[in-house]
Amino acid sequence: MIQVPHLTFDMDTPGVSTGHLVVPGGADCEALLLPLFSLNKGEGPRLLITGGNHGNELQGPIVARRLVDWLPEAQTCGRVIIVPEINPLAVQAWTRNTPIDGKNLNREFPGSADGSVTERIADAVSRLLLPMADTVFDLHSFGPKWDFPPAVVTHPIADSNLMARTLRMAEAFKLPVTLLWEHDDTLGMFDTWAHRQGKLFVCAEFGGGTVGSEALAIYEAGVRNALVALQLVKGNADCPTFRQQKSSRTLQTLLSDALKSPSRGIFEPRCSSLDEVKQGDVIGVLHPMDSLSAGSIKICAATTSIVCAIRSGAHVELNEGVAILARPLDDERRAHFDLEYQKVPE
Ligand SMILES: [Zn+2]
Repeated sequence: MIQVPHLTFDMDTPGVSTGHLVVPGGADCEALLLPLFSLNKGEGPRLLITGGNHGNELQGPIVARRLVDWLPEAQTCGRVIIVPEINPLAVQAWTRNTPIDGKNLNREFPGSADGSVTERIADAVSRLLLPMADTVFDLHSFGPKWDFPPAVVTHPIADSNLMARTLRMAEAFKLPVTLLWEHDDTLGMFDTWAHRQGKLFVCAEFGGGTVGSEALAIYEAGVRNALVALQLVKGNADCPTFRQQKSSRTLQTLLSDALKSPSRGIFEPRCSSLDEVKQGDVIGVLHPMDSLSAGSIKICAATTSIVCAIRSGAHVELNEGVAILARPLDDERRAHFDLEYQKVPE
């Protein structure tokens, strides 16, 4: 048996190919076979779509599988590779992290060939799939504990031209929110690693909560819009309808916009995602379980903001996130990105 990651078919074969990405076995588990779809129509954009990076975000795997069914009759050029579940062990367990080694795949890139199973998955994806793509869509959701709108997220990128092109790609999904998200825990993320290789990488965050058919239609429409923008398929892009509205806006959120729980307990949301709040408005209430209402703590907005994410389930620990506030991308930043976008990448 070959002990290096490999594909079970030749990716240069024209047309549709299906097979597996084989992640070698190790001391902790046997080899994994990740189903993979490739549609090669020659010259054109090279796109990689992945889902199931976190196992309790099933929206991505479902939308990825819809694309596998739909793309053969729609794609006109280029190559699209789809791996609906890059962490099948976590998907089977419906857990964010891999149950065998407890690791978060989205903090293990570029991985290690002789590491634990999560590191071996990251290594196989980094070494075999990433070099075959110029653009990557990694399909996540905010998970079952959160109220979150359909969104596409990017973190700030040091290369300002790549930042501008990435934001433009993210906005092409035309989902209700495109979020420029300042985050303090980006080491080992798939996007951080791909950006270092100069790839266009956007992370779809397909809402929060559990999976529902209405929301899935929005997410699928978003990915189709992005495929139109990449000119991989023909058609017109249109904002999907969300809460009776067809709108798409770009927000930014800073580290200081993440509200943390002041105590362990039950969080009661007092607003919904996309609500507008003013300074002092109550976002939610934290109820410690060792006392009754007298011990409850109000959590308030520090400034006028838009509620981007709000916790909607599960007991919270001290300092755990309960809300993420945001505001529209400021004009100065927008003008800078527009200018950068016009420049030819080096
Ligand atoms: Zn995720």
